[in-house]
Amino acid sequence: MFQKIKEILNNGKKFLIVTHIDPDGDAVGSAFALGFAIEKLSKDVFVYLKDRVPYRYGFLPQPKGLIHEIPEGNFDAVFAVDCGDFFRVGNGHEKLKEKGPIVNIDHHDTNDAFGYINIVDERASSTAELIYLVLKGLDIPIDADMAINIYTGIFTDTGSFRYGNTNGKAFIICEEMMHKGVVPSYVASKVHESHPRERFTLLCSVLSTLQMYHNDRVAVVHVTTDMFQEANASREHSEGFVEFIKEMKDLEVAALLRQIGKDRYKISMRSKGTVDVAAIAARFGGGGHKNAAGCVMEGTQEEVRRRLVEAIAL
Ligand code: 5GP
Ligand code: MN
Repeated sequence: MFQKIKEILNNGKKFLIVTHIDPDGDAVGSAFALGFAIEKLSKDVFVYLKDRVPYRYGFLPQPKGLIHEIPEGNFDAVFAVDCGDFFRVGNGHEKLKEKGPIVNIDHHDTNDAFGYINIVDERASSTAELIYLVLKGLDIPIDADMAINIYTGIFTDTGSFRYGNTNGKAFIICEEMMHKGVVPSYVASKVHESHPRERFTLLCSVLSTLQMYHNDRVAVVHVTTDMFQEANASREHSEGFVEFIKEMKDLEVAALLRQIGKDRYKISMRSKGTVDVAAIAARFGGGGHKNAAGCVMEGTQEEVRRRLVEAIAL
């Protein structure tokens, strides 16, 4: 499976790595780890993130080629990491798709193998786990910079080793990353205990929108652009809110509606147990994993809330 990637990397000179918008720890960690690895091969490599690195992941070592504008020219391969869909790369994804053969490295259930090469395994805890396997397959030694990025990808995508995707490999790889210099308590404090005040101001107003449905098994909150403004906060400050709601006892689905346009909402869903939120998200053109999924819906907050709650008929 890695033979084809090996050939592309050996024969090529210029590579591009992309990931999804609103990048989480797995997206950033996977893209950076792969970026460091390709730099190690003395090849030119850009890592394109549409937006700047979220504050939460600002502690991660960044490869030299990190850029926020779509680069000119073509590439010998475009690596898409942690993207269930290529459009999740954000505006300009069509342009990026033309820049070279796509190598799709991902672990989303709903990934439709959009690449020329597809390394897609929905059993993997995270894309970072797959990046680790790719680096091993290519005989690229994992250094401290790659290790902390891989570790953080696995750590964040497993909800700090709490979710159902926490598998044995995740622990084995993370242990190996510790031997390469990763200190788990350092990563945990950066990821979980380094939030700015704005996050808590925003959380106060988001919690005041909490409503329960379907015999208290479904909880929905929302956040509007006005609420962001009032808290002097941005999208990155709301990362993890939906997981926080999910902490409620006996809850099966938690959803956060985040306004992204006048009558447009980004939906984040999390489930415990058997409810497949990826299937619900897919009904609205989205996707993800069984227990964590998202989509975009049009309508007012009230309309979107009602349609979503109906769709989560338990
Ligand atoms: P989040 O709620 O954190 O944005 O996303 C949860 C999971 O669902 C992630 O794995 C993410 O990749 C996936 N996801 C979120 N929004 C979308 C979407 O609009 N389309 C697809 N295909 N997946 C999504
Ligand atoms: Mn992921």
